Formats: sequence, structure tokens, C-alpha cells
Amino acid sequence: MQNNFLDTPIEYLKGVGPQRSDLLKKELNIFTFNDLITFYPFRYVDRTKFYKVKEITVDLPYVQLRGKITDVEIVGKNKGKRLIAHFNDETGTIELVWFQGIKWITEKFKPNTEFIVFGKPTLFNNKFNIAHPEIEEVSDENTRLAAALQPVYNTTEKLKSRGLESKGILRLQKALIPLIKNKIPETLSSQIINGLKLISREEALKNIHLPENPELLKKAELRLKFEELFFIQLRLLKAKQIRQKTYSGFVFSTVGNYFNEFYNKHLPFQLTNAQKRVIKEIRNDMGSGKQMNRLLQGDVGSGKTLVALMTILIALDNGYQACLMAPTEILSNQHFNTLSRLLKDMDIQVALLTGSTKTSERKQIHQGLQNGEIKILVGTHALLEDEVQFNNLGMVVIDEQHRFGVAQRARMWKKTSSPSPTLPKSENMSGASLPHILVMTATPIPRTLAMTLYGDLDTSVIDEMPPGRKQITTVHNFDSKRLRVFAFMKEQIKAGRQIYVVYPLIEESEKLDLKNLMDGYESIVREFPLPQYRVSIVHGQMKSGDKDWEMQRFVKGETQIMVATTVIEVGVDVPNATVMMIENAERFGLSQLHQLRGRVGRGDNQSFCILMSSYKLSADAKTRIDTMVRTNDGFEIAEVDLRLRGPGDITGTQQSGIADLHIADLVKDAQLLQLARDTASKILADDATLEKAENLAIALQLANFNKNRPNWSRIS
Ligand code: ADP
Ligand code: MG
Repeated sequence: MQNNFLDTPIEYLKGVGPQRSDLLKKELNIFTFNDLITFYPFRYVDRTKFYKVKEITVDLPYVQLRGKITDVEIVGKNKGKRLIAHFNDETGTIELVWFQGIKWITEKFKPNTEFIVFGKPTLFNNKFNIAHPEIEEVSDENTRLAAALQPVYNTTEKLKSRGLESKGILRLQKALIPLIKNKIPETLSSQIINGLKLISREEALKNIHLPENPELLKKAELRLKFEELFFIQLRLLKAKQIRQKTYSGFVFSTVGNYFNEFYNKHLPFQLTNAQKRVIKEIRNDMGSGKQMNRLLQGDVGSGKTLVALMTILIALDNGYQACLMAPTEILSNQHFNTLSRLLKDMDIQVALLTGSTKTSERKQIHQGLQNGEIKILVGTHALLEDEVQFNNLGMVVIDEQHRFGVAQRARMWKKTSSPSPTLPKSENMSGASLPHILVMTATPIPRTLAMTLYGDLDTSVIDEMPPGRKQITTVHNFDSKRLRVFAFMKEQIKAGRQIYVVYPLIEESEKLDLKNLMDGYESIVREFPLPQYRVSIVHGQMKSGDKDWEMQRFVKGETQIMVATTVIEVGVDVPNATVMMIENAERFGLSQLHQLRGRVGRGDNQSFCILMSSYKLSADAKTRIDTMVRTNDGFEIAEVDLRLRGPGDITGTQQSGIADLHIADLVKDAQLLQLARDTASKILADDATLEKAENLAIALQLANFNKNRPNWSRIS
């Protein structure tokens, strides 16, 4: 019953008429009292402190003063017309200036009345003034309200035009807060609240908007952040639990001929300890009878592909088929070639299916999959098409680089002919066996992001590079150093090495980018003429056959320079390439730069990454470039990337729901996130179905969340 109050439509709040309620809905998604009370300030202005006029300095962003207005004058004409009020306290005088609302302000000023003034001081003609300050008469009420931390709310131009600037929203909160007394149900158990010394939800909501003091504001933030993270983690862990209970995985109990033959006869090198450990983790999963849903993280070049292959071989050993899905055609080709090469002396049929596979070939592949002749299918999104049906698919590897959505991952579940070709809508597939799923990310993702984005998956990390890898030397050059860079490239080519030159590609201006690329290509060809040098070019607008042909020339060493857009970003593996030169490096994201750099340093020779940029660099671009120069560690780079961009801008986060974090912050609240996950996990371990009386509040809140959401438990 208590909930009904919070569900009250926003138009029932004093101060919200039909027009404002329409705007609140459209602009801020605020439909109910609950939506308003959970619309949190994004910062606070500290108004606990009063300054004296003589204490004002240029570097104070805001000052709050208390004093009287001695006289008021209107100066200037037309556009320059302004009102100047001389404001005094016992230490000096400062000018308050208004360019607008002059009439209204004039009426407000009564002589011999004390005012509280708040605003940003600026120095003009050697005197301080404050333009358009906030100004209130001193009264008991105003003094109390002024002397506080004042919340600042996000708002929009449209809302402002209806009096709902930040102040206006605060007025609504002030109207609502007295009404919520005893109406806010607790959502956490008293065990959690007492154990972590949290304040109640009601207390927290009150103080997040109208903090009584800084300590209570901190407690309110802590409480609300914890709660937000806790329920996300609880949902993820619950989804995992339901999936494990509802579906089983095929049991891969044997490690047989394929795996052993490959391991003993065809493995071109020793596995790293990290690779061995991860393969063991995967084997344990696959033998357990539970369906594996595992995230495999490892830096660029750490050897994830090999782990994927050995996992696939275990599936084959147990009589199942496997597939490997990649985000782009080039990468699919590359994987297909790698697997074919590694398996060339074994009797295993591998097929490649992409958007450009010919119809006749397609038919053969469909047949081969259904009669079980094709054991491994590699490809792009094309694998998701309905005609693609396997005889007995047991293992799905997804090489993802955050490009596949959760929904697409879920589609892989219906790929096997048993028990029914249609994707079940709910959990009514109870008891069915599903293929095991291994998700690989192209570059590491930050821990907090992994915990939220893939929080219902188990995680394996390859934290070791294959032996003998030399650190890639990364340098940053401005365009003026170009000739020296060219000279260096020539030395490398003379020593028999190959070089990538990469140009940015940004979708909104594809034409411009293509021109940029073609100009660059021409200047490279001029600088590196035939017959001594040969240059390949690959970009997104080429036919895939042409792309592949150019790529192959480079792979075979027939060309020494590959000029390309970011299409070569993932996967491409040419160990003889030692220089990665990136043009307009300031236009690339960090993970992209790191991924590109990972294209070199794959062989025995010292490799180099050269970041070219113009002189004009934004602060963020400079941080990105400096980070690249400073470190080769993908995990560290991922953390910086998250700090710079925020989780909402990292692809793949949209569907996950973590973009809706209202108050918690994946960068700042990493420890709290871990605490929330541990707490959620402990509760589920003790009370899997959340039936105990003490967890009633939690169960209710969880049910609330799930009401209108897709069934996450089915999604890998
Ligand atoms: P990524 O993790 O970026 O997908 P890859 O699987 O493409 O990395 O591996 C990078 C390179 O390292 C490949 O050339 C691969 O053959 C090689 N490699 C993988 N594992 C080992 C190992 N244990 N020892 C030596 N080289 C390895
Ligand atoms: Mg790879």
C-alpha cells in the first residue's frame, strides 16, 4: 500500500500544473513522485560559508555575502542599459550588476534592509562586481536555507522557460519532501542496514535533496549508491543462479583425441601458464553439467585465440560442433585462416560464413552443419541467421569487442536442433541443455565495468604475455617531424620489416575521411616509390574481395606498407610488421589506439608505435596520447579510458542498463561496488530464493525492478 503514494502522478504535486507536468515527463522522464524524489542533484554549492567583501579574491568561484544596499543607479542605454547596486558590509563595497529584470530587481530593494547575496565575483576596472547574483532578504527562514549545501539539478532550456531551472526543481523537492514522511518503504534488510551502518531510505532521500549537514549528505549518498549497486548485482547474480538451475550444459567429460593430438603434435609453442590456467577453468566448467557462461579477458596479443581453439577441440572430442563468431568480416577471415592453419594436419572440417559467402556455398554450409560434417563454423553476424542450424552445437565462442548486443548473444541459444528450433520465451525450457558460451573481449575492460556489464558471467583472465615479447616503444610526434618518421620507416623496411599506416574513420564524415585516407595514401606512395617499395591499401568502402586481396598481399609480405583505416583494428596478425604509425592520433579513442598498437609486437623484433598529431590537442586527447606513451598495459589503459569517457559512452553499456546509474559512479565507487556484490552474493548463498522474513524488503524491491524488464536470466 505504501507504494501507492510514490506512484502518485507528478501533476498532483503543488506547483506542478498540466504544462509543467508535461514538460517534466518529456524532458526528464519524471512521471511520478517516485521519479521526482529519485531525481538527484548532480552537485552541491556550499553556502555554509559567508565571506566579507574584503576577503574576495579572483580565484573564488562563488561568494556569499551579507550586507545592505546603499544606492541603486541605472546606467547606459538600450543594450548597454544596466542596473548597478552598491552593496556594503562593514569591510567594504562591491557592485551588483543586472542587465535584465531591472524593473523587478528595483522593486525588490528596500533601503536599510539586510540581504544575502550569492554569486560569482569578477574583476572589472580593478573593482570586483557580481553580475546577476542571487539575492534574498535576510529572514530566519532564508538564513537557515541559505546557510546550507544547496543542491544543483540538471535541467533543460524548455524547463527553464517554465520556471523549472535548478532552483525551480528544488522548490518542487521542497514541496514533496514533507509529504514523504513515513511513506518511504525500506528496501534493504535490517541486517544490511545495521551491518553497514547505513541510514534509512527515507532519511537518505530527504538528505540527498536538503542536506542537514555535510555528514548527513555523505551518509545519504553512501546509502543510495550502495542500494543502487546492490540491486544491480543482486539481479545479475540472481539471473546467473536461475540460469544455472533451469538449464544444464552438455557435459564434456572427456578430453580426447582432437585435444590431445593438437596439444602433443601441432601446438606451435608452449602454452603460457596463464593460458593453461584459463583452459583448466574452462574445462572444469564444461565438465560440471552446468552451462558455461564465461568471460575471457586478456590483453591484445595475450593469446586468446589459442584458448578458444583448445576449448573448441574439447567440444569436438565430446561429439559436438562449435562456432566462433567475430564482429567483422576481416576478423572472421583471420580467425578462419588461423584455425585452418593450426588444424591443417588434422581431419577437422572448418567453414567460414560471412555476409559475402556465395549462395551456393551457403547451401553447402547449411547442409554440412546439419549433417554434422562441418565441425567448426567461423563467421560474422551471418551465423545468427535463422537458416543456420547445427546438428549438435555444443560450444559458442564470441570474440566481441563490445559489438554484439546481449540480445544477439541470446540468439545463439536456439542454434541447436534439440529440443526445439524456436527460442523459448520464458523459462519453460527447464532442464534443457544449452551450448556453452565463451565471450572474449578484444581489449581488457575495467573491472567495475566487467562486474556490471558481464556480472552474471564467470571470468577468466589471461594476465601474462607469451614469452619473448618485447615492449612496444611508443612515441608521440607532431606533424613537423614527418620527414624523420619517414626516414625511420625506410630503415625498418630496409631491415625487412613491414609497416601499418592508419587513418581515422569517423562515420559522420565518411567522405572526408576517405579523402583524408586517399591523400595520405598518395603522399605515402610519393615518399615510398616503386619499384623499391610496394604499398597496400584497405578501407571500409572497398569490396570485401578487394580488401581481402590487398590484405593477403601484405600478409604474404608482397607489400611493405599497409595504408588503412581502422578496419585493421582487430585481430590482424602479421608478425613481421614492426611499425604502427597512426595519423591524427588525437581522433582515436584509447581502446582503439591500444588495439591498433597490438597489431605490432607480434614477432621477435622490436616494434614501434608512432602517434602523429597536430599541435592542437584537447586535454582529453593529450591524456590519451600520454597514456599510450607511458604504458603498454591494456588493463591500465582500460581504467584511464573509463575515467575519461564514463561508462555511458563505452559501447555495449546501453543495453546493459548500467547507463541508467542514477547516483553511483563506476569510477569513483569501485570499492562500494565490490561491497555491494559481496553482500548480494552472501545473501543469495544464505537465502537463494529470498524467502526468509528478514529479506522480504529486498525481495519486494527486486520484484519491482523485474516487473517491466526482459528476462535477463536467459541472456548470456
Ligand atoms: P589476442 O589475445 O589478441 O587474440 P592472439 O590469440 O591473436 O592474441 O595471439 C597473438 C599472437 O601470439 C599470435 O601470433 C599467436 O600465435 C601467438 N601466441 C599465442 N599464444 C602463444 C604462446 N603461448 N607462446 C607464443 N606465442 C603465442
Ligand atoms: Mg584476438
